[in-house]
Amino acid sequence: MKYAELAEVYEKLESTQSKLEKAKILSELFERVDDKELEMIVLLASGKVYPSYSDKEIGIATKMMIKAISKATGISLKDVEESFRKTGDLGMVAAECVKSRKQVTLLKKSLTVEKVFNNLREMAEVSGSKSQDKKMILIAELLASAEPEEALYIIRTILEELRIGVGEGIIRDAIVSAFLKPKDMEEKKKFTEIVDYAWNIISDFGEVAKIAKESGIPGLKKVKVKLGQPIHLMLGEKAKSIEEIIKKFGKIAIEYKYDGMRAQIHKKGDKIWVFTRRLENVTKQFPDLVELCKKGLKPEECVVEGETLAIDPKTGYPQPFQNLSQRIHRKYGIEEMIKKIPIQINLFDVLYVDGEMLFDKKFIDRRKTLEKIVNVIPEKFQLAKEIITDDVKTAKEFYKEALEAKQEGIFMKVLDSKYVFGRHVDGWYKIKPIMETLDLVIVAATWGEGKRANWLSSYVLAVRDPDTDSYLPCGMMGTGLTEDMFQAMTDALKPLIVEEKGRDVKVRPRIVVEVAYQEIQKSPNYESGYALRFPRLVRIRDDKGPEEADTIQRLKDLYKSQGKEG
Ligand code: AMP
Repeated sequence: MKYAELAEVYEKLESTQSKLEKAKILSELFERVDDKELEMIVLLASGKVYPSYSDKEIGIATKMMIKAISKATGISLKDVEESFRKTGDLGMVAAECVKSRKQVTLLKKSLTVEKVFNNLREMAEVSGSKSQDKKMILIAELLASAEPEEALYIIRTILEELRIGVGEGIIRDAIVSAFLKPKDMEEKKKFTEIVDYAWNIISDFGEVAKIAKESGIPGLKKVKVKLGQPIHLMLGEKAKSIEEIIKKFGKIAIEYKYDGMRAQIHKKGDKIWVFTRRLENVTKQFPDLVELCKKGLKPEECVVEGETLAIDPKTGYPQPFQNLSQRIHRKYGIEEMIKKIPIQINLFDVLYVDGEMLFDKKFIDRRKTLEKIVNVIPEKFQLAKEIITDDVKTAKEFYKEALEAKQEGIFMKVLDSKYVFGRHVDGWYKIKPIMETLDLVIVAATWGEGKRANWLSSYVLAVRDPDTDSYLPCGMMGTGLTEDMFQAMTDALKPLIVEEKGRDVKVRPRIVVEVAYQEIQKSPNYESGYALRFPRLVRIRDDKGPEEADTIQRLKDLYKSQGKEG
């Protein structure tokens, strides 16, 4: 297939907001392509060249992209740079440059989907000292043969910003209608669930599409765990109280809820993979965990899950999550990190052992299997602490013990519940102390990039210090806002700007926002000495002036009430 055809489909997808319409456009595309191209097209339709769990990334510097555009079109570096400065959108820049291309390449060939796909994959594969140059040449080669629209989408794919509004749900619906052809709504619902099932197990829509096309429903139903491809996770529900859950279910398993990184671990012989909650492959970042798994997991093949914690070597208590998070995306200096931030894993589930999938087994039986297959290495590689009880008092004591051990709370797990992908009732219930919200003042902000270029899109939050009548920063927030809210915030903050440096602005402290967060941590990075973890906007408090914002003292008190000192 010609890439121009795909670019045309992208345009159509971009021009409609309707999910139904988008799924229809994609389903027609999927039906049209031949077997060899199907997996490629499904990936490209979601703006990717590898499934999202892959640790491969194209990784190219903006500077190199600019160079590639200049090289392919004969337009001077200075002009390309200038045009990028004006628009802030490299895709548009590439399209414009291609339009006014100075070099007329006589040998210009039309691009195929396969060529684009292969070049992009090659970019992710190259390594070594000259890798940026090699990547630049691979892009330039594509741009030299591209029409403006093609250039736009090639660059956007490289930047992982396709912006055609195609999410997982739309890809799934398109697969259902292209290859399973449901005849009514009921069948559609049933088939969708079956496609979802396969997707939850192998996490790759390209492969799911291929199976749907080749062997339909029976093929999808037979999908098996593939080691090295993450399985979608089961999540917990919030519970109101321990009493409520025990009243409803009687005898129940209760585990510590550890505050760290969820790890889904796959083992195949000597090979180990580690995936996060978002199914990212972080195996390379955790060689210490890999070693523990090699020693600690008995079966030849298995998939287990647990919570990885950073441990303070002096006290044995967990280090704040932010320390562990430094390890999650770390590419260099990993050995040093292993020493500074040693880890521990607390295993709580098993999904697969030597060819057998355990999703439909009862939780209590999975736990028993887990106990059998693990060689415990105390304080390093162990099972999540657990009791089984129907006594409220015992449960409450266990909860208290978990908090005293500086963990986040508890999980209550229904004994006969299956492993179900995603959130669902009658499975796992979490109990943790309720966080109170804070009313904070915005003291600075940053202009966004790309789609958010016209908005001030992240905000420095501050508490009030009544003693000095000043505002002390304690975090940065950029989530929990809808487009309208970004606009409202920008409108409110713009007249308050007192200083502008690059994309950063300082504003007069006037706007008060109510903010929820996951935790308060000590931090040298902010003047207040504390940082909010995952701050999220609850509402803009138009009804409050900055003098009514929360004080540094309240922040300190809340920090103490988390019981995480020491
Ligand atoms: P939350 O992020 O608050 O929805 O809580 C769910 C997360 O808690 C899971 O994704 C795990 O990473 C983590 N967790 C910690 N301890 C456990 C446990 N014993 N069982 C299951 N999940 C746990």
